[in-house]
Amino acid sequence: GTCCLSVVLIFLFQAQAPVRPVPIDEKVEALLAKMTLEEKVGQMAQVTLDVITKGKNEYVSDEPLQLDMALVRKALVDYKLGSVLNTANNRARTVEKWHEIISQLQEVATKETRLKIPVIYGIDAIHGTTYTAGATFFPQQIAQAATWNRALVKRGAEICAYETRASSIPWNFSPVLDLGRDARFPRLWETFGEDVYLTSELGKQMVDGYEGEGNEVKNPYRVASTIKHFLGYQVTQSGKDRTPAFIPELELRERHIPAFKAAIDAGARSVMINSGLINGIPVHADYTILTKLLKEELGFKGVAVTDWKDIDNLYERDKVASSPKEAVKLAINAGIDMSMIPYNFKFCDYLIALVKEGEVPMSRIDDAVRRILTLKFELGLFETPVTNYKDYPEFGSKAFEQSAYQAASEAITLLKNNNSVLPLQKNAKILVTGPNANSMRALNGGWSYSWQGERVNEFAGKYNTILEALQQKGGKDNITFVQGVAYKDDGKYWEEKDVDIEAAVKAAAKVDYIILCAGENSYTEKPGDLHDLTLSENQLALAKALIKTGKPVILVLNEGRPRLISSIEKELQGVIQSYLPGNFGGDAIADVLYGNVNPSGKLPYTYPMYANTLVTYDHKPSEEQNKMQGVYDYESDFAVQYPFGFGLSYTTFQYSDLQLSKTTLSPAEKVTISLTVKNTGAREGKEVVQLFISDLYASVTPDVKRLRGFEKISLKSGESKKVSFTIAARDIAFVAKDLRWTVEKGDYEVNVGTLKSKFTLSEGKTF
Ligand code: BGC
Repeated sequence: GTCCLSVVLIFLFQAQAPVRPVPIDEKVEALLAKMTLEEKVGQMAQVTLDVITKGKNEYVSDEPLQLDMALVRKALVDYKLGSVLNTANNRARTVEKWHEIISQLQEVATKETRLKIPVIYGIDAIHGTTYTAGATFFPQQIAQAATWNRALVKRGAEICAYETRASSIPWNFSPVLDLGRDARFPRLWETFGEDVYLTSELGKQMVDGYEGEGNEVKNPYRVASTIKHFLGYQVTQSGKDRTPAFIPELELRERHIPAFKAAIDAGARSVMINSGLINGIPVHADYTILTKLLKEELGFKGVAVTDWKDIDNLYERDKVASSPKEAVKLAINAGIDMSMIPYNFKFCDYLIALVKEGEVPMSRIDDAVRRILTLKFELGLFETPVTNYKDYPEFGSKAFEQSAYQAASEAITLLKNNNSVLPLQKNAKILVTGPNANSMRALNGGWSYSWQGERVNEFAGKYNTILEALQQKGGKDNITFVQGVAYKDDGKYWEEKDVDIEAAVKAAAKVDYIILCAGENSYTEKPGDLHDLTLSENQLALAKALIKTGKPVILVLNEGRPRLISSIEKELQGVIQSYLPGNFGGDAIADVLYGNVNPSGKLPYTYPMYANTLVTYDHKPSEEQNKMQGVYDYESDFAVQYPFGFGLSYTTFQYSDLQLSKTTLSPAEKVTISLTVKNTGAREGKEVVQLFISDLYASVTPDVKRLRGFEKISLKSGESKKVSFTIAARDIAFVAKDLRWTVEKGDYEVNVGTLKSKFTLSEGKTF
């Protein structure tokens, strides 16, 4: 018996053994060798669904999407295009509808084209799978940053990857790794805030969550990520979107490159390019940034995709090309691999001609196509061009929603709590007012069912606004609602209407507390450009009138960027920042207000006090000269409303016993910094332990302090925990005049909570 069995086993084994999986690079080379120039160039173009449903770009339409198969064939068969992106009809679809659309596209690509190469579909699922009805919406990135919780950020990306694949889409245009260093910028909320270390740490988690930690991106629950917008986007001189930025190379290297580098090292599959100019050069035409830096120095092996119409912009807007054809030449030679919005397909004609004329080398085309085909193979699109939602039973599940709620509740940041006005008593009488009180749209922000988030309210029934959540948790009878000020929901939706401050003041007479829900309506990109960062006049007027009633006013901010509130702040009893907390934000806010959740969010940016003091925490000492010299009041100098990293709790934490494993070290050694944190209050709470290190003297004026480590811990009442950080010389290096990462010998100050210590580096080093 045994003998027979082993014969059978050997037979089975031999029958299967010879199949050697062909490595992806061999598959890519074999396919590339068969491709014509036209087929290669087609792979480098990404067209929108609008074009292939209507033949032209249209941003908003209410019609249910029907692909025009003649246009699909024109795009995929005649022009041999390799990629499609979202935007048609600009609204959410069901998983069934997504399956139908992607199947129709893949049917044509994989059956009717000569080489049967699947298309790759890309989408902005930037806080959950936000173009699919019933998907799980997370807080926006800025709110995720406020959790300071690596595991939550990763889990959010895993869930988003799962639900995006469930929608048959394998490629996500997320995360944003731009630094949110300018409070005026309309996309601040798409970032992880102002600090490069926090952004690098959370960016890595998001990339791992989307792609898996090894080479798992083929896994049907993973998607390719896109780190964007490379490089230096969001720090424009005017604070407005897609306007010029002037960034010295030293600053680019010190702050803007590291988060991208960390994500590339973590395996990020694609990069989207900054639509703007740096130092007068459009990044899409900058060989030094795209090829020298990104591909050679940082070793990026994936696909560099343009942002929206940005090859056209080289000619039409930025005037570095004198014709559309020259724009194509500049961009491709600079290192662009794929053109988003290919001049309504003329991109292909121009590029073919440029190669034939010897203006774009064939080697450049082959390099771009290799990268694109590699991504398609890695994602498993040749085997499985379309996934089936039926294989994704957890789509929109309670467990997923619970993670999104968890992220929202850990993001909420308590900024002020005079005389412990919060948490509210359960039976307190409350006036809920303000334009953000009853809006799912404002809780979600942009890129939610549509670009500007204007359709969110159509899908709102299932989730609670702040008002609805307060009514559920505090009892309808205890809550009075008078909106006071409302946002226009159509047209100029950033403007306000129905201003009735008197009605709100009147209602205030009958209550114990006033919850004023203020901030911004949803927006992104240029429509969100601002002329004034101050909170709107109507909202300030409402706040001032309510303050005058003498009733305690608690301001709940729901905004994409920190709007200035200094003219009312001193008279508020409580302030909560909720950022853009997503579909479960209403519940999370109400739970914090009533004390069901102990707040643990911390600001990922500096909340400015005045319009002329937009300074980040990691500034040079000369920003504080007046304070140093005692000339004026500190407020007139580096005036912040609330500092970076700040956030209160309903319990108290005591920091003690700061210890350094060494006080003198060489650049080859590491120092372990440890301390004990104790919850000295009455209730359980989470604390974010933040390690700041200051280089006291250096050849480039050092920033006053830099975040070099953080850990979020949970402590029961009375409980203590030891936290330690291990720091190497490279972790405290700066970019020196020669543009190299450097440490210099000298003293370093360590700050954790209320504790301080020092160590000395015995010699310097260049990395
Ligand atoms: C935005 C990108 C986005 C792209 C595709 C652009 O306007 O800047 O962040 O990924 O559109 O939707």
